[in-house]
Amino acid sequence: MTKYALPDLPYDYAALEPHISGRIMELHHDKHHKGYVDGANKTLEMLEEARSKGDFSRIAALEKALAFNYSGHVLHSLFWNNLSPNGGDKPTGELADAIQRDFGSFDAFRKQMTQAAATSMGSGWAALVWDPLASRLLTVQIHDHQSEMLVGSLPIMVIDAWEHAWYLQYQNEKAKFFEAIWNVWNWNDIANRYAAVRKTSLGLDVSKTTAR
Ligand code: MN
Repeated sequence: MTKYALPDLPYDYAALEPHISGRIMELHHDKHHKGYVDGANKTLEMLEEARSKGDFSRIAALEKALAFNYSGHVLHSLFWNNLSPNGGDKPTGELADAIQRDFGSFDAFRKQMTQAAATSMGSGWAALVWDPLASRLLTVQIHDHQSEMLVGSLPIMVIDAWEHAWYLQYQNEKAKFFEAIWNVWNWNDIANRYAAVRKTSLGLDVSKTTAR
């Protein structure tokens, strides 16, 4: 069976300081992300066991666990790659053009994305996703790791809004975390993801363009 694997961070734990502390990165990657990888693998084993016994009485709980842990693995893997100690500033090129087209301006996008993260109730994420139905960028406020995600859309940039992502450093001032993170975005990574997802189609002809 193919197992999911915890990727190494693409930089040192402390590389994103002062914006994200090394201690947060260490716990977040080594403990939290690892937990989702282990959880997804364990759930696959339990599904295999259920098949071998012909007992699917726990299928609903197992599917929920798979969605939660798998999605956590995807989101954290994306998040680490989306950040860089040499990041910040603004995107350029085709990604910048797309943000201008779909959000009106970079500043409007930044505010929308920041607010989607900052207003997350309980545990969640904000994501910039490619909408393959209409070939555009949208933001999504994801609850936990998977709820309220747009099925078929592809995330290219994500912000972890769970308390474990910021509480050790920012305590009750989480808005400061959601501002600080704009100093460490790896726009090269996000632009490369944008270039890749633009080629994706769901093969569904279900959108039409009208005048605004
Ligand atoms: Mn997290």
